Amino acid sequence: MVKRAASNKNDDMQIYCNACGKKLKVENGILKEDAFEAVKEWGYFSEWDTQIHRFNLCEMCYKKITGEFKIPVEVKNKTEIM
Ligand SMILES: [Zn+2]
Repeated sequence: MVKRAASNKNDDMQIYCNACGKKLKVENGILKEDAFEAVKEWGYFSEWDTQIHRFNLCEMCYKKITGEFKIPVEVKNKTEIM
């Protein structure tokens, strides 16, 4: 079974963390709990040419996964960008 934002009643789509399967809080189509959203359009030199991959991670899983990176995630403060 594919767990994805699929339901369409009252704009109440459901979003799940792909890593742990946790349901993320969505109210009136607005994600009330911040989550990491990744979308990757794979190109010609990849194994998945023509495919678009998409997944979400809850804050906990994001922390766990990025915590295992050899090189940490690049962090910028919004105030620096704006
Ligand atoms: Zn998770």
